[in-house]
Amino acid sequence: MPCRVCDLKSSFLALAVFSTGDSNGILERMSNLFLRAKCRTAVAVALLLHSWTCAVAESIHYTPVSREVVESRLGRYAGNNKQREATLKQMFAEAGCDDQHISEQPVKGSKLPNVICVLPGSSDKVIIVGAHFDHVSEGDGVVDNWSGASLLPSLYEAMKNEPRKHSYIFIGFTDEEVGEVGSHFYAGQMTKEQVAATEAMVNMDTLGLAPTEFWASHSDPRLAQALMYLAKQMNMSATAMNVEQVGSTDSVQFSARKIPSITVHSLTQESWNARILHTSKDKLSAMRLGEYYETYRLMAAYLALLDQFAGAAEPAKH
Ligand SMILES: [Zn+2]
Repeated sequence: MPCRVCDLKSSFLALAVFSTGDSNGILERMSNLFLRAKCRTAVAVALLLHSWTCAVAESIHYTPVSREVVESRLGRYAGNNKQREATLKQMFAEAGCDDQHISEQPVKGSKLPNVICVLPGSSDKVIIVGAHFDHVSEGDGVVDNWSGASLLPSLYEAMKNEPRKHSYIFIGFTDEEVGEVGSHFYAGQMTKEQVAATEAMVNMDTLGLAPTEFWASHSDPRLAQALMYLAKQMNMSATAMNVEQVGSTDSVQFSARKIPSITVHSLTQESWNARILHTSKDKLSAMRLGEYYETYRLMAAYLALLDQFAGAAEPAKH
């Protein structure tokens, strides 16, 4: 197996080849596109990853919501876990997830359900996007993890009007803080067929303290590689940062069923030393909102990119 560094070199080589043929300059063109946050955004992608043994040279399409929308959803963190569950469901509905596609899954061992919004695709392949909505009693639980949960409706919105092969299942997990109860239940009740059809699980936990990071030692190398590659193309950062000392998170329940998973976060040594998580310091003022919105844009593009890697069916028509 090639080492990760070698993989990255060939990815960047692909980028260089693609950029040479682009007289306007890919980064310049993308920065122009991103000025129009409400417009449909296309990121040109030339991807060559050993692990996927396929080359993709095309645009990925997604429609990011504005920073105002992302921040207004973040601002709705108030209340206990029950209220937050209701708010998340409401925000999915406001984002366009209708009654047919939104559900509350009763979870054994939790008083609250998982909140699920399904965005159907044209194939039987699935990508799960998850974040826990519960919080501990100390602080407001904005960073951990309304920052992740409140992003789910905005990611749904970024994807909903674009053709896609995969079905995206957006899940707000209950009771992560008491032992990943909601994700454990969800992963455990998946049938063998559902596990086989699920090509990626993208977990978000604790965003907005710094630029985007991912938990390298607990992430599928191909998913991590694709995220780093995309961040580079978008002139952003996605840094490998292991956070074993923090504990666990929902993605491990999917890894346990051999579903490729990745956890995106924003913890740094600095924020860890500042003891923001699970303390009274976990409140809105701890969030670095500019970097939080950057993470949102990167994740929206990432979900669109992941759609390219599987499924032979034609994209869904609208
Ligand atoms: Zn958390």
